Amino acid sequence: FGLVKLQSVAWNNNVEMNTAQQLLFNTRAAFKSGITLPVEWRIEQLNRLLDLLNENENALLDALHKDLRKPKLESIETELIVVKNEAINAIKNVQTWSKPTYPSKAFVQMIDSVYILKEPYGVVLVMSAWNYPIQIIFSQLVGIIASGNCAIIKPSELSPVTSELMSKLIPQYLDKECFRVYLGGIPETTVLLKERFDMIMYTGSSMVGKIVMKAAAEHLTPVILELGGKSPVYVHKDSDLKLVAKRVVWGKFLNLGQTCTAPDYILCHNNVVDSLIDELRKTVEEYFGSDPKESPDLARIVNARNFKRIESIMSATPKEKLAVGGETDESALYIAPTVYKDIQLGDPIMEGEIFGPILPVLAVNGADEAVEIINSQEKPLALYIFAKSDKVVQQLLSCTSSGGVTVNDVLMHAASHNLPFGGVGNSGMGRYHGKYTFDALTHEKPVVYRGQNFESLLSARYPPYSEKNLSM
Ligand code: NAD
Repeated sequence: FGLVKLQSVAWNNNVEMNTAQQLLFNTRAAFKSGITLPVEWRIEQLNRLLDLLNENENALLDALHKDLRKPKLESIETELIVVKNEAINAIKNVQTWSKPTYPSKAFVQMIDSVYILKEPYGVVLVMSAWNYPIQIIFSQLVGIIASGNCAIIKPSELSPVTSELMSKLIPQYLDKECFRVYLGGIPETTVLLKERFDMIMYTGSSMVGKIVMKAAAEHLTPVILELGGKSPVYVHKDSDLKLVAKRVVWGKFLNLGQTCTAPDYILCHNNVVDSLIDELRKTVEEYFGSDPKESPDLARIVNARNFKRIESIMSATPKEKLAVGGETDESALYIAPTVYKDIQLGDPIMEGEIFGPILPVLAVNGADEAVEIINSQEKPLALYIFAKSDKVVQQLLSCTSSGGVTVNDVLMHAASHNLPFGGVGNSGMGRYHGKYTFDALTHEKPVVYRGQNFESLLSARYPPYSEKNLSM
């Protein structure tokens, strides 16, 4: 599969199909053949996915380095291990997940068998982002395989080396008919989105999420939208600030801030804001040295467009607010880990998701003001609360809404397959990871299986009703 050309081809009794239609037609035919239904087949495909990851580890790490200069350990921890754990978990559990379940029966069902069948939707369109190109696509693919669906996978054109590699490896290891990669940018994706899929699993910005949902609405195709947003951190005055800095600096500058769940801004209690800024400065130096550009442990901005976008936020932020970092180098797509202090709600840096290595810090009077600010924004993908006081933690938990929460750390609620991962409101809809992906891609089909006997028990429901004496 090379870059898809938007040509029309004669197909099937002279019906003209473009490449996207042809791809979908073929994938749907594979689904309809029933090949994905036996659980043994799914387990075999999942094992092949594990082989793909194990046998091509160096090539995958290399591709991530070329696209984003991702440090090797970061790629292993945040991309490969995550997918392997997903696959191992699915292999262990898919037999159980796929079995019918038997709910308790209502009185009127006493003569029936009542159960819920687990039915795959069909062909899932996976549209993905570039920031964790392997982790996101392959984690979703694990659930797609486990649930017996087929997929057309559209990786991001902004991580071209990784996308090209996936388009080579997927047909080498997985069933070629059921799992197909479609490479392309916006024009090719626009054509693809005109087609009728059975489910669309989209990961990316909220803006494009709306385009995807509109396209899906034409066909009443269900969507799972994994979007972004401004994820806040609240730091209470009783916190161990050294610990806060260690954890926040790690999570913020991982992948150079290009993580959907990265802390976007800090709301820090007035009493400790200066000390926190000091600790953030010390920690940045501890992790990345006095010249972070020389550190091998920092990724790079994905492309010049994103570089310019982040740089323009920096230019719009007054110099006197710069507390840490601030250096940029466009030729190297490098932006230093940067912290801004004294930020106000109306500042340009607080307008949209930053998705880069700049961290604004706002001083607040306490948890009440933090709650007020969080609730004045769109619902974020993540919320991080640092506090020793459980009362403060509970206040933030119960008075705000977000996709997920980690208390006294960052990112952790999104890092495991035993928790549902997804957004709420503007940060997305639907959830996945582990069994949640299986469930999200499965139609739960209720069955009431009644015999052709015991007709007399049903006689009360038939007309003419006037002859019935229905005393309750
Ligand atoms: P994006 O929305 O620009 O692109 C995502 C996908 O949509 C790509 O495959 C791209 O080709 C396609 N696309 C882009 N514009 C399109 C258009 N006009 N019409 C049709 N298709 C189009 O997002 P991105 O820049 O790749 O990723 C960054 C965003 O994704 C951030 O907001 C981030 O928070 C979010 N994100 C969310 C998650 C999550 O799991 N919730 C994970 C990663 C990234």
